[in-house]
Amino acid sequence: MTSIARRKAELEARLADLKGRLVGIEAELDSHQSADWEELATEREGDEVLEGMGLSGQQEIRMIEAALHRIDVGEYGFCGKCGAEIGAARLEALPYTPFCRTCAH
Ligand SMILES: [Zn+2]
Repeated sequence: MTSIARRKAELEARLADLKGRLVGIEAELDSHQSADWEELATEREGDEVLEGMGLSGQQEIRMIEAALHRIDVGEYGFCGKCGAEIGAARLEALPYTPFCRTCAH
């Protein structure tokens, strides 16, 4: 397997994981709609945490989908701003980043 194919497999696995977790979060939030009154206050606090997780998860999903698209069109690993090659260490830490270290700042 080439390193790009391995990267694609990793991103796809991460994407599936995130999507699965979001479905779980939505089911959890839905189940709270029918909660008893006395439980509602504590569940509300929990819901805010769950919704926060849902939002950051959705953002990550979008970034991973964009990265998978860049793999398909052969642009993956190159900075979307300056076109420079993104370092392997940076891709290892942030596999879906569209920018090199310089442009990300
Ligand atoms: Zn750059």
